[in-house]
Amino acid sequence: MTLAEKLASERRARLAAERLLEHKQRELFAANEKLAVHARSLSNQIVEQRLVVRSALSEAETLKGQNSRYLSDLDRAHTAAVMAERRLWDSVETIRDGFAVFDTSLCLVAANRAYLAVFDGHPEVCPGITYEAILRLCHERNLVETEGAELDEWVGTMMSRWDQDPIEPRVVRFFNGQYVKLIDRRARDGDMVTLALNITESIKREAALREAQVRAEAANRAKSAFLANMTHEIRTPMNGVVGMAELLADTNLTEEQRLYAETIKNSGEALLVIINDVLDYSKIEADKLVLHPVPFDLERSLHEVMMLLQPSAQDKNIQLLIDYDVFMPTRFVADPGRIRQVMTNLVGNAVKFTDQGQVLIRVVGFQDEPGLQQLHITVEDTGIGIAPEHREHIFGEFNQVEDQANRKFEGTGLGLAITKRLIQQMGGTIWVESEPGQGACFGLQLTLPIAEDDARDLTPPITFRRALVADPQLTNRSILGRQLETFGLQVTLCRSAAEALHAIATNPPYDVILTDSDLPDLDGLAFAAQLRCAGHQLPIVMYSANPIAFSDDPRVQDDLNALLQKPILRRDLYRKLQMLSAQAPAMAAPPATPMPAPALRAMRVLAAEDNRTNQLVFRKMVKDLDIELEFANNGREAVDLYQTFQPDMIFMDISMPEMDGREAARAIRRLELASKDHVPIIALTAHAMNGDATDILTAGIDDYLTKPLRRAAITERIAALCPPIARPVMEPAPVNEAAE
Ligand code: ADP
Repeated sequence: MTLAEKLASERRARLAAERLLEHKQRELFAANEKLAVHARSLSNQIVEQRLVVRSALSEAETLKGQNSRYLSDLDRAHTAAVMAERRLWDSVETIRDGFAVFDTSLCLVAANRAYLAVFDGHPEVCPGITYEAILRLCHERNLVETEGAELDEWVGTMMSRWDQDPIEPRVVRFFNGQYVKLIDRRARDGDMVTLALNITESIKREAALREAQVRAEAANRAKSAFLANMTHEIRTPMNGVVGMAELLADTNLTEEQRLYAETIKNSGEALLVIINDVLDYSKIEADKLVLHPVPFDLERSLHEVMMLLQPSAQDKNIQLLIDYDVFMPTRFVADPGRIRQVMTNLVGNAVKFTDQGQVLIRVVGFQDEPGLQQLHITVEDTGIGIAPEHREHIFGEFNQVEDQANRKFEGTGLGLAITKRLIQQMGGTIWVESEPGQGACFGLQLTLPIAEDDARDLTPPITFRRALVADPQLTNRSILGRQLETFGLQVTLCRSAAEALHAIATNPPYDVILTDSDLPDLDGLAFAAQLRCAGHQLPIVMYSANPIAFSDDPRVQDDLNALLQKPILRRDLYRKLQMLSAQAPAMAAPPATPMPAPALRAMRVLAAEDNRTNQLVFRKMVKDLDIELEFANNGREAVDLYQTFQPDMIFMDISMPEMDGREAARAIRRLELASKDHVPIIALTAHAMNGDATDILTAGIDDYLTKPLRRAAITERIAALCPPIARPVMEPAPVNEAAE
């Protein structure tokens, strides 16, 4: 090989080596590049991993913190739960009553010491024992009083209690005399919680109370019986005292003697009022007051109350007026005695606390539903009135308005308390409206069954057309005017005789004149006389609060056609006008030959009364009446005399030897069954205790009067019951009523 070839080959080799080197360099560079990328990505990964690790570390830190908080919370909760449980059990342990919890399979879970104390000496009674096992132990060891029940029966009863919902409490008596009330309740999770309340003390207290109540009731009965006997004992001699004093006052006495007699009578009557009040109140207190509803005439009863109080009102120159709504029925069903008592108290007070003016009973009402009347009765006076602060107070017991204005008035302070209780018992209400010095208005509201339609006998009708009323009193004048208008009359109202005479002269003709006995210019009789002198023949009716005062005045016979008692009862007024209008043509016509009047006999009155003094009092009280009087000394004699004497009415004492008044009345009613007659029997009774009135009325007695007897009450009853075939009992008749 030549050099040149050698050089060429070397150069080729060198070139090849250079190319290879170059290739390898490129490869190295590429590999370096790759390595750099990889290294970068690795470094990125490392950075990321680091971040993840860091956040995992911080999360781990947080979790660690939370965990320790949870742990301390748990710890606290545990401590609190332990404390709560301890407190709960401490509390449960401190209560003296037994407390136990049973699980759903009725095994004892826990019980306090009080519960377990009962089972002292029975260690088996501890958590885990069943309820049934406890019950069996109680029965077998006689721990509780099982009232003779067999073991299984008693355990069964006690177990089945827990099936009830709600579970009724049950009282059991333990061997040591303790009473325990078991109160059991099922908890939400099915556990049974039982509380055993020791009620021994309250049972003992209840027993003591019951015993005290029995003793108090016995004492109350003894007191009531004592009161009944006491009143009987007081009233019987008081009857003699008051009756004899009344009779004594009617004899020829010196002024001084009359004063003594009047004082005896008034004091006796005052004493009886007090006794009656106290009695009534004690009856109400003992819930022994029973109402006896019967049909009665309310308007008439109010009238009777007014009549009773008329003398005291007249002494003070006070007008007593009744404004009874003319469109209202008058007969209702209620206890008339009690209604009269209420009204007597209200009107009595009104008169007592009024020095001048008037006392007006106003009765209005409407039918609540068919057959039931709602009544509003007010008693208005023009007296001293009541201050606002005393208004409610006066309905309390023994409460009187204590001030200068009324200290001078007598009374027990029980009247309104009794009145209020009576009205409440009748289902009504009572109230008062008043201002000091402006008078008082006591009102009561009552709903009463209507007994029947107003039985006003409309035949024959009143044929008068025009009436003239002469009355100085506005209220009275307008009440009377309204009443006359409802009878179909046209009415002219005048205040004085002069006004009336002027009306008669200028506006004739009138068919009837009604005049008060006391006109401001003339008295009623002088007014009538003047009319007669002037030749007027029309009927003149005069009314007065005290008609008896005119009984000896010949002008009554000469100039008047009728004399009426004031306040005028609507029914009486109607009857009187009926009669007068029927006679009117005869009055005007020349006197015809008088028809021979049928011979009338004396009214026959039988009084059954065993006490001779009372017989004497009774005889003296009716001595001025035109009656035939017989006495029976006991019930048997009364029944005999009923058959032989055939009385028109009987006064019947209740307490009599041999046969008492009730039995006698029953016997008479039995005898009457055959004849269909009905002789009115009025009981005379000193009894005032509860039940007597019922007894009396169920014995067939029509009504009763309580002793001591009053002349006015007896006379009024006799006169009211006088039959048409007997002569009027009052002589001389104060009115000129030939045809009556
Ligand atoms: P009494 O009249 O026996 O004192 P009441 O219970 O009937 O007892 O009355 C209680 C009191 O009410 C009376 O004492 C009197 O102060 C007052 N009072 C009753 N009615 C009236 C009246 N119409 N006007 C003024 N005061 C009256």
